[in-house]
Amino acid sequence: MSTSSADPSPAYTSQACHRCGRLGRRNGDRLHCTSCGVVWQADVNAAINILQRAGDPDIALRTSHRVVRQILRDRTDRHRTRLPVQDSSPALAERRANYPNRSVMSI
Ligand SMILES: [Zn+2]
Repeated sequence: MSTSSADPSPAYTSQACHRCGRLGRRNGDRLHCTSCGVVWQADVNAAINILQRAGDPDIALRTSHRVVRQILRDRTDRHRTRLPVQDSSPALAERRANYPNRSVMSI
């Protein structure tokens, strides 16, 4: 039996923000998404990325890092042009910025 082609590629799961899909800055066990302004616990973020990717038709285990990166880029570009900003309430954004780790704990 071969490995299922539905297995998600782990490429960039530890570097891409699971919420917006953009690549963040990794610092130890923290991932800082400059787009969302949120600091994620890196392992938690990666686990959520893998869960989301498990149902992803475009990214399989053998998808190369280069292709994964391109797919992530294309998607975030599409996000920016098509979708309104999620959680656009300034109060909510401010709360998130003030207590970035709290949002990790509430997952
Ligand atoms: Zn983000």
